[in-house]
Amino acid sequence: MSPEEEEMLIALAAREATGCLLHPSLLPDTPGLIVPPVPPVGVCAEMCPACGMTPTEFGRHAEPLPFSNWTIVAPTDPVPDRPVLRVLACERLVPRSVLAMTTAIEQFGPSDSSQFITRAVHWARAGAPAPGTDGFRSAAAASVLAEQWVDALPQARADLGPAMARFRAAMRRIAGAGLTPVVPAAGRAHDERAFVVAPHGRGDGEPEYRRLLLARVTPNLVGQAQQGQ
Ligand SMILES: [Zn+2]
Repeated sequence: MSPEEEEMLIALAAREATGCLLHPSLLPDTPGLIVPPVPPVGVCAEMCPACGMTPTEFGRHAEPLPFSNWTIVAPTDPVPDRPVLRVLACERLVPRSVLAMTTAIEQFGPSDSSQFITRAVHWARAGAPAPGTDGFRSAAAASVLAEQWVDALPQARADLGPAMARFRAAMRRIAGAGLTPVVPAAGRAHDERAFVVAPHGRGDGEPEYRRLLLARVTPNLVGQAQQGQ
């Protein structure tokens, strides 16, 4: 893997850490008022080109959705009245993996963030390219650019005005994929092996990503936590 490719994966790993460490919104402190913990989202599954799992099979997972107010939508459904997240059919979303997306919807509204895809969908659509190829560099660069909006989230809660401007400026589209920013930190495969970049990690950059996440990003997080004590 070239230094250029490594730097891009480190940027993606750092952004995944940013998304996962956001603080979930606090629920209203009103006795008797029960509200969903996150905004409603429609989840649209696509067939995984690596394992062949279909959208129908996605709906048969034991827990296909992380929240009770989320719904499964089909590609043929009319445009729903809620943001849509596209996933691979073998992905299993966990609440923290979608924290960046739900925080963005809460803070900036669904009109700014109505179409999301997971990193795994983006990578699968790119052909799951291997490190050392033009396809890999192109797909990684597209992710780095498209996920800039995550960087505006940590400061946004205290300062929504300028943060809104930064957020809108940071929203980027994946070329050739329509109006779909990428969600950092996707989910888990049905075989319980987590993946956050590529489906199933077979020569497509996922092992390298994990190595860099653990070697370069995690130690910094530990250092930050110790400084905050
Ligand atoms: Zn799969």
